[in-house]
Amino acid sequence: MSTTDPSTCSGSTRGIMNHQAHFLNHVRNNGQSAVYTAITGDACPCVNSATGYCDQEWHFRNPAPGDEDCNGTGLIDTVTTNTNIKAFILPKADLNEIQRQKVGLRAEDDYLFVGALNVSAETLFDISGFNADHDYITFATHKYILRAIDAEKIGDIIVYYFAAMKKRAA
Ligand SMILES: [Zn+2]
Repeated sequence: MSTTDPSTCSGSTRGIMNHQAHFLNHVRNNGQSAVYTAITGDACPCVNSATGYCDQEWHFRNPAPGDEDCNGTGLIDTVTTNTNIKAFILPKADLNEIQRQKVGLRAEDDYLFVGALNVSAETLFDISGFNADHDYITFATHKYILRAIDAEKIGDIIVYYFAAMKKRAA
């Protein structure tokens, strides 16, 4: 490549991308395996548009068959998408108080999540669309939700995402 090659103008951009590539390589080799489960679907007619909550009475008045019971999830015709990921899943106890505050960890949180690699696509996996009402992460046989999701950026490029990880109630 000659010094007049216009593609050298993107040198600094490649440098930024390298931070993400470096992170993905690091998490591929040293991160923990987990499964990200996203559940999407259509809004159940039982959902009260004013409150956003399910009205279980609606299902008593409109029993299946004919009207699918969302079982209190508010979603029908659901599609479940599982993605194998790798992330750094750091026990809260391994962080000091300043680190915990910096990432917004609360007493009820179990881990700091830093990630993630989409294992099959070999790309950065976007967790920003995580929906705590439906989605979850399975790690070491337990289900967790993510909250306080944020991204570490250099310029406008996301290097990795981080979040608080809390064991799900059910
Ligand atoms: Zn319903």
